[in-house]
Order: sequence, then structure tokens, then C-alpha cells
Amino acid sequence: MDVEDPINPLADDAALDLARLFTEAGVRGSFCVTGEKCRTLLARDRHDVLDAFRPHCLGLHTDTHSFHPTTMELLENLSFEEGCRAAFESERKGRDAFLAAFDREATFWGGAGNTWGPEISDALKRLGIPAYSYALTELPGDPMHRFNGVFAFPQHLSISENDWADDARAEARSTQVLAKLREGPAPSTLHPAHWIGIFVGHPTKLRHKEFWDGPYAHGRTPPEPEYAEPLAEEVYQRSKSNLTSFLSQLQKEAEIIGVDDALALPWSFRSPEPAELSYFEEHTSRNLRSATGWPIHHPGLSAELIIEKTMALKSTVEVAEIHDHAAPLSV
Ligand SMILES: [Zn+2]
Repeated sequence: MDVEDPINPLADDAALDLARLFTEAGVRGSFCVTGEKCRTLLARDRHDVLDAFRPHCLGLHTDTHSFHPTTMELLENLSFEEGCRAAFESERKGRDAFLAAFDREATFWGGAGNTWGPEISDALKRLGIPAYSYALTELPGDPMHRFNGVFAFPQHLSISENDWADDARAEARSTQVLAKLREGPAPSTLHPAHWIGIFVGHPTKLRHKEFWDGPYAHGRTPPEPEYAEPLAEEVYQRSKSNLTSFLSQLQKEAEIIGVDDALALPWSFRSPEPAELSYFEEHTSRNLRSATGWPIHHPGLSAELIIEKTMALKSTVEVAEIHDHAAPLSV
């Protein structure tokens, strides 16, 4: 889940509830928390929220997520060297806030919404963060991989907040996701995933009608905080109950581990085959072009230099594999 709303105070309560929901279900989740959210929780003295997350695997969800410039807006026109400096400066602030809030380092970095640049991998190495999730870098079959020496975790499956809020939709989506897990990787893929990332939403969006960052859409920065309208209490309770049922079903069928446990698995790395590398070029470029359409981005954002800088590092791409045939794992 992503924990990122620094505006709406009810989102702090929702984050607390959701962290406890995972703990009570006996499921160790992987939560992405922004630097800005860490600063907000400290400023509001919400140590109860911070403490609720301690049993879980925690990653840095960028410093400020949807505040401008986003990652792609920041790196859009910079040379790789300038971009590395800018990415480091931005994410260092996030890392410092994370450390102040949790008194530990982030296990991984999760890109905000739909935004990324290759300089992030350089910043992460300098910050000692070994992995990024929601990878826009992509290989056939969506395996774990390394890019520029940093471990990349794709997101494979997701269930949205609107699904959790509706009993019939939650049931249908839960069934579909569990069926996908049982089915395993598609026969056409070259490599099994071994680890399957499942995104189950944002605490704030389970609590509010709209995303907290709507006021930041299309490059806008509102002069004053604009608050989101809460959902009815019964809708929120229903969402939590549907998520709880899913986690308990998931636990019966798969071993649920955090990103940190996944990093500790016995991975080996190899160079991609030529066909895999052309797939990487085609699909990663497509993902980056499509990321420009994230509604938060300023109109006219170009992915072209970001793609060029990414492809300049394609010789660093490595496919991660595990050679035993253990059951698939998920978070
Ligand atoms: Zn997010």
C-alpha cells in the first residue's frame, strides 16, 4: 500500500487503521511512505501511526510524490549527470525524513503514481537503498531484474479502492487475483516471476471520495491546501472488511513476504538474451511514454530524453532468477 497523503488529517487515521489491520491479520505488508508524509506525521505528533508501521517492511515513496516537480518533471530536460545530482538532492530529503520518522533506512524506493527516471537508480545507490518497486523497466514475463545495479520489483496485480468499497466487486476481484496466483506465470513467458507484487491501494483513498492529489493535477500547485471529501463511515468499514477477507484467503494460498524478505532470497543474475533486451527497449520506452499521461504531470511533458538516458544504461540490465522450484511468493 502507498501512504502518501500529507493534506487530509483523516488519512493519518486511515493509515493507522490499515497498518493495524495487516498486523492483526498476521500479514507483514510492504508499505511505501513519502518523505512528506513522514514530516507530516512527526509535525502532527502522530507517533501512534509511525509505531503501527514498525512491524512491516517500509519503503520510501519519493520525497513529495505529486508536488511539482514530480520525478519525470524534474529529470525531463536534464543531462544524466545533472539529473543524478537533482535526483539525489530530492530523494536525500525523503531518506532523511524517513530516517527521522522510523529510525531505520528504507528497504526500497517506490515511484510515485506513474513517474520515474534512470537517475533515480544512481541516487538510490548513493543513499544505500537497494531496490525500487513499481518498476517501469520491464522484461518479458515481468521478472525481478536489476537496472544499473539496483533491484527492480514489478507490480503484477492490483485491487483498487473502488473494488474494496463494493462487496460484489471485491469478491470478484479477489477471486480473479487468487486465480492468477494459482495459474502462475503465463506459458508464453520466458521466466517465472517467483515473486508476485500485489498492490491493494492507498489508505487515504479508502477513506476519501477522491485522490488527495487531485488539486495537483496538470502541473498545478494549489495556493492553499484543498481537502478531499470523506466517504461514509460504512463504506470505509466495508472496504476494510473486504481487504481483511482477501488477506486471509491470500495467506492460505501463498507465502506473503515483504520486499526485504524477497531481497534476501537466493537470486542469481544473468545478462538478458537479445530478444529479451529488445523487449526491454520496446516495453520500457512504452511505459515511460505512457507515464507522461499520469494526470498529475504538467501538460506537454516529454519522455524522450528520459528514454534516451534509460537506454544508455541498457547494458546494465540483468535478469534475476531463482533456480529452485519453490511455490510462488507474494506480498
Ligand atoms: Zn503513490
